[in-house]
Amino acid sequence: MTAPIQPSAQRIWDHCEALAKLSELDGGLTRVYLSDEQRRANELVLGWMREAGMSARLDAAGNCVGRYEGERAGLPALVLGSHLDTVRDAGRYDGMLGVIAGIECVHALNARGRRLPFAVEVIGFADEEGTRFNATLLGSRAVAGTFRKEVLDAVDRQGISMREALRRFDLDPERIGEAAKRREDVLAYAELHIEQGPVLEAEGLAVGVVTAINGANRYAVEIDGMAGHAGTVPMTLRQDAMAAAAECVLAVERRAAAEPELVGTVGKLECLPGAVNVVPGKVRFTIDVRSPRDGSRLAAAADLVREMQAICDRRGVGVKIAKTHEGKTAPCAGWLQAQIGEAIAAEGLPVRKLPSGAGHDGMAMIDLADIGMLFVRCEKGISHNPAEAITLADAETGARVFLRFIENFDPKRKP
Ligand SMILES: [Zn+2]
Repeated sequence: MTAPIQPSAQRIWDHCEALAKLSELDGGLTRVYLSDEQRRANELVLGWMREAGMSARLDAAGNCVGRYEGERAGLPALVLGSHLDTVRDAGRYDGMLGVIAGIECVHALNARGRRLPFAVEVIGFADEEGTRFNATLLGSRAVAGTFRKEVLDAVDRQGISMREALRRFDLDPERIGEAAKRREDVLAYAELHIEQGPVLEAEGLAVGVVTAINGANRYAVEIDGMAGHAGTVPMTLRQDAMAAAAECVLAVERRAAAEPELVGTVGKLECLPGAVNVVPGKVRFTIDVRSPRDGSRLAAAADLVREMQAICDRRGVGVKIAKTHEGKTAPCAGWLQAQIGEAIAAEGLPVRKLPSGAGHDGMAMIDLADIGMLFVRCEKGISHNPAEAITLADAETGARVFLRFIENFDPKRKP
């Protein structure tokens, strides 16, 4: 017996390269929602879907939707997907790899003449990053039926509203609701994505099973002290906002490090008035706390608010803490984790489970169906950066595992 036809890693590679050329940024990659570059990307992707044996169309939100019928037409679908938009000066695999690998898996199924007891759909979401309109997951929210109409009034840097941008893209903003799928038509949502972190590489693994997309809390903190002359105000009489902030930053680090999988970051800090000879009077900084468990995230966030308050009280400075974002954990369904894990094991690889620290389309798709994710190793965990890199061998391993998961997918194991 000859070996079954496998996904072509070379074609995945070539297609990633082809999409990477469609950019508004010379010498880099920036492709935003409803842009000319996206229009050209859609043409390529819809063409690849058809070559793979799918029917393909653009939906009402500008997503590319390919469909490979099952043993008979009209069966509910296993939906695969990821996004085709990018951040500014992006890498070429974040999002695109998942769309292209999904198409390639169907290509292999079709070449084998294999039909499954369910349909397979591949969606290239038009917006996940939110680069243009500062609102994320626009493509997947439209498919999940949770698109909020207010977002149509969001404007880009040029002052063009999303409503207008849809019209210029030959889409009707009033009909965006038509992109929504019905729950009964979707068996599950599965996504292949680069890890965007260093864990798999550190452990020498090509792939991993995602347990959850971490929830996140974000805060804007402002500490009010008293500015003064750096030479004349004695140490005992100072209300140094920066020294208080420094204690807060270390408190964030200490609290996050105390629990596995909890992460806490102060990524932005501004010191005023900001002079070498002035005691800082005001400091503003941000906090980002994430965890795959909502309870752990909420407890850490509450502890930090209390601790920062105590630090500032003790130092005699004022503090204002404003929550700027709160997003729940999107857990990957146990039955899908199990089936992705079995596909990895069947390829003779160890099954490593890990949470996703970054957000993904699954955060929106979970309102429509159970979600599962397969991570592929990327070099040094670098992402949202032109240095983003994977190997041809890992693209191949990822696609083989993904195909094995698809062919053996059993919706009856859903509890
Ligand atoms: Zn992504």
